[in-house]
Amino acid sequence: FGNGQSEGWDGVFDGDSVQVDYLDFHDSTYPYGSMPLSSSQTVSIKLSTDDSSADDSATGMASSRAQTKSGSHRDASAHYLTTTVTGTPSQLLENYWVGVITHELGHALGLDHTPYFQDIMAAPASTEDGSSQENAKYNWTDYKDSDGVQGGALTATLSQRDIDRAKLTKLLGYW
Ligand SMILES: [Zn+2]
Repeated sequence: FGNGQSEGWDGVFDGDSVQVDYLDFHDSTYPYGSMPLSSSQTVSIKLSTDDSSADDSATGMASSRAQTKSGSHRDASAHYLTTTVTGTPSQLLENYWVGVITHELGHALGLDHTPYFQDIMAAPASTEDGSSQENAKYNWTDYKDSDGVQGGALTATLSQRDIDRAKLTKLLGYW
């Protein structure tokens, strides 16, 4: 556990260890807000799709810091993606944190970000400060292929591209 709120992350790989934010992790309203205890529900989440506010750009975080949390200091001019996920409240929260941690473990294996929303390694922009790798071979400033897609990090789902990239890093000797 770490304290990521001041730096705008809820999960991070700092080159040495994977950390999640202690307060967010123990906050049942993060990142989806208060959820009724119905058996299954569909909730929306608003995600930043650019890093125009440097203080909130994801420092190695799964899907950029979720924006439903009250007190967000996000720049009003920033662009957002609204996506929905379905499940019971406990499933949604478990999937969220499994997704965050899996994404950060991906970094620990040597994986950089991709712009593809369905990947667990997706990030809204190629330029991040902090610990995440920035030597992507091309740049992007928005998610690609996000229409109607439940994000890999939100649903803790690996895409075929995630798996292929992990295999490649192994072949290249990163792990
Ligand atoms: Zn990342």
